[in-house]
Amino acid sequence: MATLFTKIIAREIPAEIVFENEHVVAFKDIAPQAPVHIVIVPRQEIPGLSTLPDAGDHLAILNAAKTIAEQLGLTSGYRLVINQGEDAGQTVPHLHAHLLGGRKLSWPPG
Ligand code: AMP
Repeated sequence: MATLFTKIIAREIPAEIVFENEHVVAFKDIAPQAPVHIVIVPRQEIPGLSTLPDAGDHLAILNAAKTIAEQLGLTSGYRLVINQGEDAGQTVPHLHAHLLGGRKLSWPPG
């Protein structure tokens, strides 16, 4: 089933893409929760972290986050978040990580 993010990856829905490679596409979140809020999505359509295959190029998500954070100058810190399932508030059933930065982030998250 094609999700919203599959359509963004296929350029069927516009998004402000900030980074992409063979494994992931990353774009600005439409409802940013911080001055920098990037969504990093694997091209492979995995519904969420709970259905992550045992094998694959999943490290690409972390590598992309590191590269994007460097490119955007997040030298004083940032946070990478994956919402899994209803209790975490996952709204798009296509695995993705949120890269948040550009302000002091409180802990624990709500
Ligand atoms: P989650 O709630 O963890 O599933 O994250 C989904 C994220 O996708 C939310 O932060 C939304 O603001 C974001 N989002 C929804 N539609 C779009 C869109 N068309 N372009 C960019 N980000 C979007």
